[in-house]
Amino acid sequence: MFGKLKEKLNSFVDKVAQTEISEKDVNNALDELEWELLEADVAFEVVEELKERIKSELVGRKVKIGTNKRKIVEDAVEKAVLDVLTPQRKINIIEEIRSKTEKPYVIAFVGFNGSGKTTTIAKLANYLRKHGLSVVIAASDTFRAGAIEQVEEHAKRVGVRVIKHRYGADPTAVAYDAIHHAKAKGIDVVLIDTAGRNELNRNLMDEMKKIVRVTKPDLVIFVGDALAGNAIIEQARQFNEAVKIDGVVLTKLDADARGGAALSIGHAIGAPILFIGVGQGYDDLKEYDEKWMLEKIFG
Ligand code: GDP
Repeated sequence: MFGKLKEKLNSFVDKVAQTEISEKDVNNALDELEWELLEADVAFEVVEELKERIKSELVGRKVKIGTNKRKIVEDAVEKAVLDVLTPQRKINIIEEIRSKTEKPYVIAFVGFNGSGKTTTIAKLANYLRKHGLSVVIAASDTFRAGAIEQVEEHAKRVGVRVIKHRYGADPTAVAYDAIHHAKAKGIDVVLIDTAGRNELNRNLMDEMKKIVRVTKPDLVIFVGDALAGNAIIEQARQFNEAVKIDGVVLTKLDADARGGAALSIGHAIGAPILFIGVGQGYDDLKEYDEKWMLEKIFG
């Protein structure tokens, strides 16, 4: 998205007055920028925030003849974008798990079908095992045909056990069993796979609320597909209303060149991005790093 932004920046720089940057210069350029950002699926309120931040960096700034104007403007835009990409609160999942006195640490995953939820659970299981933690998965999507086999297949590949019941069973009972199993065996982490929602299905939402109410997870993670653009902001808001979301995994960033979702989601629900998915393999999960994201966006 910001590849184009750079082009816009060039004309922006040309418009900026020689000696002092006026509000008018900045406003004119920002109006052009606004469309680019909205088209790249950056949420409206985030666009406004970026504009305000860029303005406060630049308006009234004295530019000495001979200084590199382009650099000043580029730095201001990059700083504004980095500020928006930086979560107000960070969660170090490994430290959190290790510091919990009573095992297991429970993570519930929520998200729409096809967002990459099951793959992300397997990736995270793999990641946790690499950090020396033991993991069990609760196959609490007892709703969608094939969901249990799918999670079992992934789990087998990353060497993790799955606790399952039959289709149609109470998802909360499955999660409860998995937690019980982890307690008995001294397993560090339980990852709960909940049924994905294609649309806001009332029953499935109620079921998800029940899982969260009964199992009291340490962390509720929303898995969102970066390719869904602005739609994932609305999805995240809806899930956040139903069950409070603590953190986000954004998937398919290998395929998304725009990064609008990454800019918008933290603002929309006030929860940090914890990890990003950058491919279909089990190692394609990266800890979220705003500097990496900035690089990708400005690419
Ligand atoms: P679920 O329905 O939410 O459980 O989604 P799945 O985990 O089955 O994933 C749906 C599709 O997205 C699968 O083909 C995954 O391989 C793919 N996928 C998941 N995460 C990523 C990612 O980070 N990058 C890419 N390119 N594909 C992904």
